[in-house]
Amino acid sequence: MKKDVVGLNIDKPILDVIHAELERFSDSIYKSVCPACKEGLLLVGRYPETMLLNEYDRCVLCGQRVRYLDIDTLRGKDGPSGLRAIVKVRNQNG
Ligand SMILES: [Zn+2]
Repeated sequence: MKKDVVGLNIDKPILDVIHAELERFSDSIYKSVCPACKEGLLLVGRYPETMLLNEYDRCVLCGQRVRYLDIDTLRGKDGPSGLRAIVKVRNQNG
């Protein structure tokens, strides 16, 4: 791992990405290899209140921010907890 990558992209504009097209890391449905530095990982975060997957993410290594354009698809794959969160959000919105 190159040290000069750490925090390299922290001030760069947000990248619009499609989660399904990113390189998967391990067999996780969530973790992707960062498209900016190709070394760090995008882990996919959650909103703490609802546990709904967050469309915004940040590389753990270079700090590149991304926005998942297909977050709804990923939320659907998130299983019962993801679906519960979506229902909860919909109910909150009336
Ligand atoms: Zn990165």
